[in-house]
Amino acid sequence: MTNVLTIAGLHSGYGPISVLHDISLTVSEGEITAIVGANGAGKSTLLLTLTGHVPPTQGSIKFLGKEIAGQPAHLAAPLGISMVPEGGRLFPFMTVQENLQLGAYHPAARQRLRETMEEMESFFPILAQRRTQNAGSLSGGERTMLAIARAMMARPRLLLLDEPSLGLAPVMVERVISLIDNLAKKKKLTVLLVEQRVAEALELCHNAYIMEHGRIVKSGTGIALAKDPQIQRAYLGLTD
Ligand code: ATP
Repeated sequence: MTNVLTIAGLHSGYGPISVLHDISLTVSEGEITAIVGANGAGKSTLLLTLTGHVPPTQGSIKFLGKEIAGQPAHLAAPLGISMVPEGGRLFPFMTVQENLQLGAYHPAARQRLRETMEEMESFFPILAQRRTQNAGSLSGGERTMLAIARAMMARPRLLLLDEPSLGLAPVMVERVISLIDNLAKKKKLTVLLVEQRVAEALELCHNAYIMEHGRIVKSGTGIALAKDPQIQRAYLGLTD
């Protein structure tokens, strides 16, 4: 199976503060890969380093075989990497449609704006209903859907999702997780998902990496990790 993303020996951080230590992982084409771990483990920093918002201090990031470590953030979307940032970062005083249009800002995506917008509105019918409403007036679940759809407007090969479940009611978490699953299957997308909700992420993904204090401490299939007694004790609230 082709690796869309191959990270080797990656270190990064914020100035003198080092956060990621020797991260190595792969993301296979057409699969959902999850990075799970507690608050502050470094998951968002990893995504920000992949997109070029945080510069790596060491190591390699290969996207479709091309070295991209340290490249400027504005090149990520044209290359095929789109991110749904933590909290969605929508433009609350712009309409749903305007938020979607902004997702298609690079030239290749802009050429196919109408077609992609139709695809997204048919995949998320609620966004078509809310087309002229301001993003700030949407419910939490609708905002998450809009943030995902906006990232999809760039027509990515690799979709990065930073805690899409954040702040959602449990029933909405289930719904968003199943939408991500359907979207990945329907669009043959490769997804790298960062989550604190370990049980849900392990159920959704093919492979997962457990991150603690900026290091990968364990990896495996979602199914195997969900059955691992150490993971069950540390992350799933289960005891022997
Ligand atoms: P969360 O789920 O809370 O977002 P996370 O696993 O995504 O957690 P990060 O946000 O990557 O973790 O944070 C990892 C570490 O980096 C934390 O100790 C955090 O305080 C630190 N950190 C994050 N952003 C910055 C920043 N801009 N400047 C300095 N340190 C930062």
